[in-house]
Amino acid sequence: MKKLGKLSTILSVLAISLGVQTQAAAQDKVLNLYSARHYQTDEVMYDTFSKTTGIKINRVDADDAGIVARLRAEGAASPADVILLVDAARMASADSQGLFQPIKSAKLDAAIPANLRATPTADGVTWTGFSTRARVIVYDPLRVKGADVATYEQLADPKLKGLVCTRSGSHPYNLSLFATVVERLGDVPGEAWLKGMVTNMARAPKGGDTDQVKAVASGECGVALTNTYYVARLMKSTKPEDRAVMEKVRIVFPNQGTSGTHVNIAGAAVAKHAKHRDHAIQFMEFLASPFAQDYFANGNNEFPAAKGVKVDNPAIKAMGGDNFKTENIPLGVVAKNMTKVQQMLDRVGYR
Ligand code: FE
Repeated sequence: MKKLGKLSTILSVLAISLGVQTQAAAQDKVLNLYSARHYQTDEVMYDTFSKTTGIKINRVDADDAGIVARLRAEGAASPADVILLVDAARMASADSQGLFQPIKSAKLDAAIPANLRATPTADGVTWTGFSTRARVIVYDPLRVKGADVATYEQLADPKLKGLVCTRSGSHPYNLSLFATVVERLGDVPGEAWLKGMVTNMARAPKGGDTDQVKAVASGECGVALTNTYYVARLMKSTKPEDRAVMEKVRIVFPNQGTSGTHVNIAGAAVAKHAKHRDHAIQFMEFLASPFAQDYFANGNNEFPAAKGVKVDNPAIKAMGGDNFKTENIPLGVVAKNMTKVQQMLDRVGYR
């Protein structure tokens, strides 16, 4: 009896420890995702990742600023494994605050063009772009000739005096564009370009990208800058007023004859204090797969970032976005030029 009791104790201890182990393993099959994306189509993508890998995704949704604030507050105790943000300027800013860690992945190196990722170091690459959006010019054909707005540089031409509208110069979308223009033109001509745009403004910068498109349609502005997915949303809209807006404006993919149109990214990075680093890299590699690329890009009317994956989106095609020349300046220069550009904006009075 005594022996049997001992055996059963041993067995139950063994069973408990096995149970604990299985539980620990199950708990481990987890990925904590902090996301600034909130598109229905992303859900399908996440479910597919969980089904094929057995890794459960816990998601925290917030806007870009909210995610960065949360990561900073949590510090080393942060449960975050992967962070999804939109815009290279935001990626660069979070990176400079030490919120990411570099990774090495042959799959990502092969799938995603180097110009859509952070500048690599000996330790690897921090952030990676998984979709792209172009920053295009929208204009009123009744007031502006297409030939006068074929490039970003022309936005500073005196011909466009009193016609130019943009959102705030310090908004990440503009900061990223300006950082690459300054990289291309050089500091002095770059600052002169920013100053020229300020001189040409129809009104002080305000509103978002969609507001700029609407202001061109209403006649308040003659020409403006917007990201392509806002145009696609208006094109797909069932509201008659949105359709009326699109009938009044024209879209230009700038710099087709020269440096190519500026593209920005929505991307991901492994969190500095990731507890599930391997799952995080596995998830990043999944995002680069053709299956995920389709959901990642199309969910917000964007373009896939992975090489060889094609866009299949009627609105994007309708605006001429299925085959345009893109700027090939590495988005890593956004990190390098961000502070400099912000100082230039202050000097030229670009609010
Ligand atoms: Fe946006």
